[in-house]
Amino acid sequence: MATSSEISENLKTVSETIQMAAEKAGRSPLDVTLVAVSKTHPPETVRQALEAGHRIFGENKVQEAEDKWPALKAQYPDAKVHLIGPLQSNKTKRAVQVFDVIETVDRIKLARALAREFDLQAKRPDCYIQINTGEEAQKAGILPTEADAFIAQCRDHLHLPVVGLMCIPPADENPALHFALLSEIAKRNGLQKLSMGMSGDYPVAVEFGATSVRVGTAIFGSRALVTDRGA
Ligand SMILES: *Cc1c(COP(=O)(O)O)cnc(C)c1O
Repeated sequence: MATSSEISENLKTVSETIQMAAEKAGRSPLDVTLVAVSKTHPPETVRQALEAGHRIFGENKVQEAEDKWPALKAQYPDAKVHLIGPLQSNKTKRAVQVFDVIETVDRIKLARALAREFDLQAKRPDCYIQINTGEEAQKAGILPTEADAFIAQCRDHLHLPVVGLMCIPPADENPALHFALLSEIAKRNGLQKLSMGMSGDYPVAVEFGATSVRVGTAIFGSRALVTDRGA
């Protein structure tokens, strides 16, 4: 696990890398948000990033976010937490309570549940549609060929506040092709935001137009191996 000074150094290094990648691509670094992925890391570790001044975080499980974030947000009210993992429809209510941004809208049943819950809670967190750019059977997300229709349904029929698209490229492929594809789908649908890029490829993602990158390991160090069972 990274120490406090390591976390603050890592945040600085990642921010500088984003800045260089943005400048190389002729973009403003201010147009790229760093989402610090704090999943599996205990509150003490996350607090070190907060103390270093960071405010935007990503978590992939509802239960874990509920366990960690209410106390942290009481101390740092301007902290924001993005949901970056799959969401079961029966946890929609809890997700809308604890998360500020939902990055993983990946099926119509979930989109409907979110629309209903936003009304009930009078809360409208920004939503991203997750696209399965690699068309991987085991991965969540809308297939690229179905993206336009799904985006239209979410925006025009369900009135979800869709701000952009998110993807997780296949581990064994050149991520640039997937980033370019995500960007193209966003462009033709008039969506401004692209959540793409992780510790291994965020500079490439920034070159391809990422407006937010989701970086865990490069900030907090490696995660203990955990299974998804019982999540
Ligand atoms: C865990 C995770 C990340 C961060 O991955 P690192 O390689 O540790 O930077 C980014 N996006 C999603 C969807 C994740 O689940």
